[in-house]
Formats: sequence, structure tokens, C-alpha cells
Amino acid sequence: MSASQLTATQADLREQYQKLIEAGLALDLTRGKPSPEQLDLSADLLSLPGADVYRDASGTDCRNYGGLTGLPELREIFGELLGVPADNLLAGGNASLEYMHDLVIFGLLHGTPDSATPWAHGPIKFLCPSPGYDRHFSIAESYGIEMIAVPMNPDGPDVAVCAELVAADPQIKGIWCVPTYSNPTGATYSDEVARALVSLPAAAPDFRIFWDNAYAVHTLLEAPPEPIDILGLAADAGHPNRVYLFASTSKITFAGAGVAFFGSSAENLAWYQRHAGVKTIGPDKLNQLRHLRFFGDANGVREHMAKHRALLLPKFALVMEILSDRLGDAKVASWTDPEGGYFVSLDVVDGTARRVIELAKEAGISLTGAGSAFPYKSDPEDRNIRLAPTFPGIEELRSAMDGVATCVLLAAADKLLA
Ligand code: PLP
Repeated sequence: MSASQLTATQADLREQYQKLIEAGLALDLTRGKPSPEQLDLSADLLSLPGADVYRDASGTDCRNYGGLTGLPELREIFGELLGVPADNLLAGGNASLEYMHDLVIFGLLHGTPDSATPWAHGPIKFLCPSPGYDRHFSIAESYGIEMIAVPMNPDGPDVAVCAELVAADPQIKGIWCVPTYSNPTGATYSDEVARALVSLPAAAPDFRIFWDNAYAVHTLLEAPPEPIDILGLAADAGHPNRVYLFASTSKITFAGAGVAFFGSSAENLAWYQRHAGVKTIGPDKLNQLRHLRFFGDANGVREHMAKHRALLLPKFALVMEILSDRLGDAKVASWTDPEGGYFVSLDVVDGTARRVIELAKEAGISLTGAGSAFPYKSDPEDRNIRLAPTFPGIEELRSAMDGVATCVLLAAADKLLA
């Protein structure tokens, strides 16, 4: 565009933005939450396991204390879906984030089975493929773990960068990974990247991969990718204790009342249970039993996820349609077109993401905070915005996305003319 065309466009966009303000919207695209319609898919859970049903197949009375490992049949179902032997998988409380948090804390205070001293005895660092999941970074930040951003590619983190860093620095004890339909880019790790990660030449013998497979079955396609046998690969690579695997039913059944899973080597699980046994006598087995009855088997989970897909596909399609209609020609943004998961990652003109988020906020559209997908909430290029399209209804989503597009264009025009 010539300078005069750009000035005319800017004036037009200001007018559009004024109308947006006048519309008095109150819309929220911040957190990746299931919509009420998605939660309704699991309504039967509210009346399960049913009156007088409280034993699992092995006869355990789920009303009582105990059973830190979780119900075996539920571990079988999710073991199949996650590519983990059931013996290597625990079923726990309602949040996988709590497992992650505990594992960091236990490492800091006790050290792992491979640590010479507790992690807290010296400064430690984690690699953070970025953009990544803000709550991973919050765990590290709140305990003073230095975060090192590493580039995120379409097939996972840049393993060459990771290898160089971990080989040189024994203070690097961990890496955060979301291997399937990653938050926020939607990237799914390739087998090669997975193999490279379990084989990284880490200077720290107690280096851990936090393999958070939160979106393992959350596909927008006919079927999700085959799960990578990450524990087997790690054992083959000579690092049997390197991987901590996580998942949950938060976005399968109820986000606040699902079941979380933790998978690892037998040695790590024994170590974990020794420490976890101090803080709890066992998880909510009735909730696990309810989930077991609800799903029946792994196919039950797959069929249930197809219902989520039917609700989510139109929303993701709408986001793609609006982004490409409104921003495609202007070439001031790029975005991911995920095949699953909960997010779309939008990159705007460098130096304008914060401004876009401010403009949207003033127009009543809440977007995830600027830089939140980066360590220390610091997006070096100020370009990334995480969009979470699952929660709003379709018409709200349409208004919100159209508004976001106006803000992206206006911020770009203002920047180019500044
Ligand atoms: N891991 C990732 C990558 C997520 O995106 C989320 C939620 O957004 C979680 C974990 C939270 O999982 P949970 O509800 O099991 O704590």
C-alpha cells in the first residue's frame, strides 16, 4: 500500500473500531475451557456409579481409604490411549497439573532417584519450548527455577538447541513438553523429535522430560495420532527414569472433576508414591469408578471424543474462516490451523501483540495476556496471541474473532504509520 492508501485504511479501521466499542461487547477468548455443551456430553457421570455401586472389578471398596495407584481397569483404558503399560501409569486426583507441581516440589526437596542432592541445593533451570503452556512456566517461576526459552518447531522443540544446552549445563534438570496438539501452537511432536529428546546428552543424570500429553485424544480429525511409546523409547535410549508422562480427563469429561494420570518407570513411580503417600492416603476412587463405568473401555473414550469433535470443529473452522477473510490479504498476521487441542496461535506484526490485546480489552473482548505463552511472560518479539475458541457460543465467537481481526489490522496500520 502507498502511504496515502495506508492512511485511508487506518481511518477506516478507526471507524470500525469505534463501532466495535459502541457495540458494548463482553466476550472472553482467554482460557481453554470446555463449553457447557461439551460438559453436557458427560452428564451421565453425575448419576454414576449409581446407588450401591462402590466396588471395582477386583472388589475394592472405593468408598474407603487407600489405593494410591488408582483403579487398575481405568489405568488399563488410559494406558492403551496414551501408549503406556498400565503398570507404569497411576490414576490420581482431578488435575494433572497437581502431579507436575508435586514432581517439581519432590525433586526440589528430596531429589529424584538419580539425583546426588535435592534440586533445591543449587540453582536449577528448565528448558521451555516457546510458545508453550503458561501454567508450566508458572510452576517453574514460582519456585525460582530459571527458564530457558527454546524454539518450538511444527514437529516439536528444536532438539539441536536443546542438545547443546543440556550437554553444557548440569543445572538444566527438565524440559516442558506438550507432545500432541501442543498448547498453544497445535504442533504434534514427530517420532524423531521424541527419540532425540529421550537421547539428549544431558550433563545432569537426573534430567527429566515433563511429557504433558494433555491433548492425546483431543483430535479434530477422524482419529488422533498413535501415541509415542515414550517410556519405552527412553528405556531403549538408556534413560529409563527420564520421562514423567501426564494426562487427564479434564477436557474429556469435567474440567474440574476429571481424573489425572501420571506415567513413569517403576523406580520413579515407587519414589513418587513414597513421597505422595505422606500427603494423601489415596485418591478419590469413587470418581475413578464413575469414569470407568462411564467409558467402559478405550473405545468408549474414542467415541466420546468424537462428540467433542462435532462440537469443536465448527468453532475452529469459524476462526480459520474469519482470520483468512479479514487478515489473509493484508499479510499482517499468520496463524496455526490445528488438527486438535484447544488453541489457535496467532502471530501479528512484531511489536503489536500487546497493543492488539489492549485494543480488544477496551472493546470488551478479553484475550490471554500478552506474552503469556513465553517464560516470564516475555514475548521477545511482542507478536504472539493465544486464541481459545472452545468456550464461547458460535455467535459470540464470531463477534469476538471479527473484533480481534479489526484490532490486529488497526494495530498494524498504526505501527506502520508511526
Ligand atoms: N496441560 C496442558 C498442556 C494444558 O493445556 C492444560 C489445561 O489447559 C493442563 C495441562 C491442565 O490439566 P489438568 O486439568 O489435568 O490439570
